[in-house]
Amino acid sequence: MSDTISRFIFDNSDVRGEHIRLEKSYQDILSIHHYPPGVANLLGEFLAAASLLSATIKFEGALILQVRGDGEIPLIMAEANSKQELRAIARDANEAMSTDFKTLIGNGQLAMTIAPDNGKPYQGIVSLDGNSLAHCLEAYFQRSEQLATRVWLCANGQHASGLLLQQLPSIKPDLDRWEHLSTIAHTIKNDELLNLDVETLLYRLYHQDAVRLFDSKPMVARCRCSRERVAQALISIGREELDDILLEKGQIETNCEFCNRLYQFNRSDVDALFEQGSDITRH
Ligand SMILES: [Zn+2]
Repeated sequence: MSDTISRFIFDNSDVRGEHIRLEKSYQDILSIHHYPPGVANLLGEFLAAASLLSATIKFEGALILQVRGDGEIPLIMAEANSKQELRAIARDANEAMSTDFKTLIGNGQLAMTIAPDNGKPYQGIVSLDGNSLAHCLEAYFQRSEQLATRVWLCANGQHASGLLLQQLPSIKPDLDRWEHLSTIAHTIKNDELLNLDVETLLYRLYHQDAVRLFDSKPMVARCRCSRERVAQALISIGREELDDILLEKGQIETNCEFCNRLYQFNRSDVDALFEQGSDITRH
């Protein structure tokens, strides 16, 4: 029931929906870092939102939702990819004691990056207007995509859930139907969103609206860091600086900031990194 994302549509309508409910994947991510409750809740909303948004686009790759602000959390981000894998982090957030969105985030920018496995990333940015992540996302869609979109998000440290309604691009949108469907969804309460499975929730909201639910897809917490990616980052730092670290510490150690996995490189590892591509420059 939990850790699944489900698509639904309405018969004879240009409105589609996505529903997400996370439990284990959310808790797996929270167990890596020890966040204060307000941060853990907001991170759950980011995970739910990134999952919903990645499900609305057809692509192979990752969708990254990120906010940099001047509030209690300098940076918060969540990533969902087309294999339904999730990761997230709130950087330097251990002292963030608020539960209020504005206090946690402050003023800043919301960036949505679509990073295809093959091809250039695309990034859309909006300033943070709104008292919740859901409102900021709705404003984002209004401005940058001009798609009528409504988002509901809720998380409590145990579950993270979300619902998205979106009017698909059409020459003659059925505004009355959109108004009707989004008004009904607006009656949803946080505890319903957190605790009900998708069938029960949709029945409660739309039993008079010919809603059609597709098969659910499983979501998991999985980081996409790798030794190869870390090696690339080390190469970009440059040989000289790496030699300094080796001289001082004997080896290079770095943790992935998402999953905390430790990567170690000793002197011969570093030698190997620079031997592979540097022959041309040496001769
Ligand atoms: Zn990692």
